[in-house]
Amino acid sequence: MPLHELAAHELHEKLKAREITSVELTQSVYDRISAVERRVQGYITLTKDIAFEQAEVADAGFERGDEMQPLAGIPIAVKDVICTKDVLTTCGSKILHNFISPYDATVMTKIRHQGFVMIGKTNMDEFAMGSSTENSAFKITRNPWNLDTIPGGSSGGSAAVVAADAAICALGSDTGGSIRQPAALCGVVGMKPTYGRVSRYGLVAFASSLDQIGPFSKDVTDCALMLNAICGHDPMDSTSVNRPDTDFTQNLVNGISGIKIGIPKEYFIEGLDADVEARVRDAIEVLRGCGAIIKEISLPHTEYAIATYYIIAPAEASANLARYDGVRFGFRASNAENLIDMYRKTRSQGFGEEVKRRIMLGTYALSSGYYDAYYLKAQKVRTLIKSDFDSAFETVDVIAAPTSPTPAFKVGERTDDPLQMYLSDILTTPASLAGIPAISMPCGLTHSGLPVGLQIIAPAFEENKILRVAYTYEQHTGRHQKKPNL
Ligand code: GLN
Repeated sequence: MPLHELAAHELHEKLKAREITSVELTQSVYDRISAVERRVQGYITLTKDIAFEQAEVADAGFERGDEMQPLAGIPIAVKDVICTKDVLTTCGSKILHNFISPYDATVMTKIRHQGFVMIGKTNMDEFAMGSSTENSAFKITRNPWNLDTIPGGSSGGSAAVVAADAAICALGSDTGGSIRQPAALCGVVGMKPTYGRVSRYGLVAFASSLDQIGPFSKDVTDCALMLNAICGHDPMDSTSVNRPDTDFTQNLVNGISGIKIGIPKEYFIEGLDADVEARVRDAIEVLRGCGAIIKEISLPHTEYAIATYYIIAPAEASANLARYDGVRFGFRASNAENLIDMYRKTRSQGFGEEVKRRIMLGTYALSSGYYDAYYLKAQKVRTLIKSDFDSAFETVDVIAAPTSPTPAFKVGERTDDPLQMYLSDILTTPASLAGIPAISMPCGLTHSGLPVGLQIIAPAFEENKILRVAYTYEQHTGRHQKKPNL
């Protein structure tokens, strides 16, 4: 099997045994990129020089017989919303088209310590607003399973390059589903950790009370290894939580006999694609067969999640995006008559349609006289959504459901209908609002050969439980081994 098709934990063994070098592996990934990138369009920036330098450093370490970390020498792609020192960080926006971050995000510092190899920065919906990666100012990423369809979003680039074997793993960010939904649509593993588990320092802010960085990988073991590498308390992010280190690989093999899995009836909604429902129900039966106890549960406020999310996220975005004024960094419009005119022209020309829509929605929701009716009310509903999960977790260990109501849709199909696009997030926003961890993993294909994602949700800081259930399912079915025919 070509090296780029393997998972990080398999490659680590080969690197350690000195069967392969990281330079060979990195070359194999760039060869793959040369073969598929023209069609997939997953990257905004490739960092080849840096990658080979890092690969050589890793190889030297293996050569000396140093104690090497699991991600040492492993080619990883990074969503372009995560600040990378000396490398372009555009957030998929014209307004940051020339922005080179003067510092590294904490997650970057952490994976650098592990000795990873940076392959490049991946395409995304502008400022992570979207569900299809069509809102990028630069290009439209295609789904490797069917190039006429979208890869999901907003981390569509990261999901697509992992699915296409054009990176071994990737980092993404999830505010309302942006890791899980593209992972589902591209047939890879993607996890949104508990809010506070991973530092947001250096993650360009969209909606600060929801944003969380997380991994994309080819299997569950790699997901655990990536999580090990990036999590932990960070004094630079006051919302990062101080908890003792956990090894997320530790519980993988313990089986799920007696684990109680809740199936929320509100997630099997009208409009749920029949193939998606069938694959997810099959997956639940597999879990039952592995010894889990399956129980129907209710999360009664689920139907309000989309409306709540689309008040809170734009409100926070409208404040966070005020900093793009053309003064200190990024794009600045020319021919301005005065300062106010410069701001107006810069923001009108620099932001795309969807970002402007969110800024307007958010500004309106926060405006005097409307604050109570919208933002405050949304916060109250958010509390209700969270307490739904709290009560459910009194009787079950984890919750299993579909990730996305539909498989990948056609490029252009929803671009003129923002509400239709927002509905893609109907099954992912509840866990985001509750701040709890959730994974999406491949659970088979539709009749037309598109991947379906199984979502597993756990209480805060219980990623271990999710990983254990996910690993058991994966090992039992081997579904993750299926690859697109590119
Ligand atoms: N699709 C959702 C949105 O457009 C979620 C995006 C995200 O998680 N960053 O807001």
